[in-house]
Amino acid sequence: MRYLIIGGVAAGMTAAARLRRLDEKAEIVVFERGNYVSYANCGLPYHIGEIITERNKLLLQTPESFKKRFNVDVRVQNEVMSVDTRSKKVRVRNIPTNQEKDESYDKLLLAPGGSPIRPTIPGSDHPAIHTLWTIPDTDRIKQLVDTGNVKTALVVGAGFIGLEMIENLHARGIKVMVVELTDQVLNILDYEMAAIVHRELCQKQVDVSLKDGVSCFAKAPDGGVTATLASGRIIDADLVLLSIGVKPNTSFLADSGILLGPKGHIIVDEYLRTGCEGVYAAGDAIEIMNPLTEKKTAIPLAGPANKQGRIAADNMHGDTLRTYGGTMGTAIAKVFDLDVGITGLTEKLCRAENIPCDSVIIHPNSHAGYYPGASTFTLKLVFSPTSRRVLGAQGAGYGGIDKRIDVIATAIKGGMTIDDLTEIEHAYAPPYSSAKDPVNMAGFAAQNILNGLVRIITWDKLRSTDRSQFLLLDVRTPGEFANGSIAGAVNIPLDDLRERINEVPRDQTIIVFCKVGLRGYLAVRILKAHGFDDCLNLSGGYDTWQVATTVDDFEVDPGKNKDLRPAALVADKVFEVDACGLQCPGPIMRLKKEMDAIAPGEAIAISASDPGFYKDAQAWTSSTGNTLCNIDSKKGIVRAVIMKGGASLPIAGAGNDKTIVVFSGDLDKALASFVIANGALAMGRNVTMFFTFWGLNVLRRHEKISLPGKNLIEAAFGMMMPRGSGKLSLSRMSMGGIGDKLIRGIMRKKNVPSLEEMIHMALENGAKLVVCQMSMDLMGLRREELIDGIEVGGVAAYLEASERADNNLFI
Ligand code: FAD
Repeated sequence: MRYLIIGGVAAGMTAAARLRRLDEKAEIVVFERGNYVSYANCGLPYHIGEIITERNKLLLQTPESFKKRFNVDVRVQNEVMSVDTRSKKVRVRNIPTNQEKDESYDKLLLAPGGSPIRPTIPGSDHPAIHTLWTIPDTDRIKQLVDTGNVKTALVVGAGFIGLEMIENLHARGIKVMVVELTDQVLNILDYEMAAIVHRELCQKQVDVSLKDGVSCFAKAPDGGVTATLASGRIIDADLVLLSIGVKPNTSFLADSGILLGPKGHIIVDEYLRTGCEGVYAAGDAIEIMNPLTEKKTAIPLAGPANKQGRIAADNMHGDTLRTYGGTMGTAIAKVFDLDVGITGLTEKLCRAENIPCDSVIIHPNSHAGYYPGASTFTLKLVFSPTSRRVLGAQGAGYGGIDKRIDVIATAIKGGMTIDDLTEIEHAYAPPYSSAKDPVNMAGFAAQNILNGLVRIITWDKLRSTDRSQFLLLDVRTPGEFANGSIAGAVNIPLDDLRERINEVPRDQTIIVFCKVGLRGYLAVRILKAHGFDDCLNLSGGYDTWQVATTVDDFEVDPGKNKDLRPAALVADKVFEVDACGLQCPGPIMRLKKEMDAIAPGEAIAISASDPGFYKDAQAWTSSTGNTLCNIDSKKGIVRAVIMKGGASLPIAGAGNDKTIVVFSGDLDKALASFVIANGALAMGRNVTMFFTFWGLNVLRRHEKISLPGKNLIEAAFGMMMPRGSGKLSLSRMSMGGIGDKLIRGIMRKKNVPSLEEMIHMALENGAKLVVCQMSMDLMGLRREELIDGIEVGGVAAYLEASERADNNLFI
């Protein structure tokens, strides 16, 4: 038996090795037009990035090692020019000698793979424009990067390979820009999942241009490339990488009688047979069946290519006939610190294929939240509302994605339903998962929808719905609400909802949301129990809304980016500050304190684990007249390097002051007031806080002050009212003081400054704390009973300050 194989990488070499294991006596010949066989093309970007330092590690086999181990005749630099299926011969050209020869076969495997598409854009023959597919491509790009002359690179196309190259070029100190024709990176994902990848790219200072394409390339005066985009934008780059897709290498089959699909892929049946006797095909060059859409498609991935190679070999050998079940495109990529994975159908694809689907987005922890190193990730599950079958999943986060995508891929392959997901058994200990794994949680969430416990609305539906038709109810805490919410939302914290249920209108649709969706679900259940039938929960909560609706906001302004310089080059001295573990506004307050202590021209390099610090640090820097030298986020730790001075200072008091009326003496409300006040102070704003009625208690001294001349009512008031911030109770769930103690303990544990510390910080940073004279008189309080550093004033003092303010709060 003489087996010929065309193509010596994933599918071809797998088949060759398998055939040898099945048949020791057969003659097996592999023709490979390149110089290398069996190399790890998936590892190529990482060699350029010098993550895989040894080039040899990419070369898994050589013709010699393959001959020795498998007795296979591997002929490199031999290109098959044509196939004659009637006479069962292939025509082979020896590339070095340019001689052609016919080779006959009993069985033939076509595994020629694909090649990157090179668009016919004017100027694309410039020597600095590359594609990446083979070892020689890698050598060319790496040699160029190794010269140190590549300072800027433009990646055209934001698919998997483009994104991997962005990361690896960036790792070599190159400023990277990417241009993508569609409105999202990683077009195979649903938009809101791709937005997470987009955010990661922008946080790594990658300049992302969406909805744009290259119109032409030209030679730049310095020898680099000038790319003109359809939008008119001009980009200069020392290196350009085209990664806009692959096409199958099947032109040599033109007159063979082998059937090709509309895009040139080889058509095979379920046994990987072409229609021609003895000819099989596998790998990137074939059309496969997507078992979920039941439609033919092409999915160029290494896993399917290897598996097809093995099945094709079994069938060529012919003892048994094995079917190939198709490919549903399970894939994963690392984009800087972010892992992003997909399996099965997206919502987008379901819509395009008219497949009914529902979806749910959850934000679980990668493992038990209390065990160090846990991070929150986003998991989207797509499922059928009728059969309840799992159709697909997408995940993005800083750990735990591969495991969940693999489990769900297995579930899809096994035809499981969302109900099956709830019972999937997983190996659990705190470092690895939670007692309810995210896969179970996704199943529960889907079950709640299909069983009618909750109706959901997706972020894009919400965005396109007429706002006058519903009430948007934010059930997060006042502090979370103050940090940002969806425009027009009303805040009733979940824990207050039962008591404030009368504030919820009965004649409107209620759309509830929280941070990630869980509290929103609980709120919907409470509302339903109180007779509100028309209420929905926002899928994925505010986190998903925010990332999906702020893609433009994350766009890196190329002008701004140019100013980001290594602090070491511009600052006289850089001081490291560790603000990890501090919650908002802790990191900003710490930053301000440290910046106050250094001289102009010196810099602070501050690290914080609060993800909001990425945006806060930039906002703080631009509003305080300091210079952002660098900012990045690695594995959830934001590190900003900020030099003191260097930019024009905002004019304090120029209509951007903040005034807060503190009416309440509740612990939580006082805390919220001081969080906002300290945040504004850290931004360089003037803050005036006006304490009236019960708010006076926040500023009472802890110790008892005996003052002569108080009448009975004044003395009684003094006794009944809490003496100072330490005695304040929560507005809800105080539970006779247990709740107050609990919250103070949690704050300590989570490094949130106490109320007393926040009052102290506010005073130190120049807040004006004015107590209302009239309220003091009514309640019989004297100045001596209040803490130092405050002023006593009338309403005019507050009103005067409020005229210079752009923000007045009544708490
Ligand atoms: P190939 O591996 O392309 O091999 C085909 C071979 O056939 C080529 O060497 C070609 O020279 C040869 N050939 C073509 N025509 C002829 C002819 N007429 N005569 C002789 N020889 C011929 N997939 C993943 O699943 N995960 C990843 O992380 C991943 N990363 C990747 C990163 C990069 C940079 C690249 C380029 C690909 C990546 N892939 C990844 C895709 C994966 O490598 C391919 O899906 C897989 O290699 C396809 O295998 P194949 O055997 O069909 O084709």
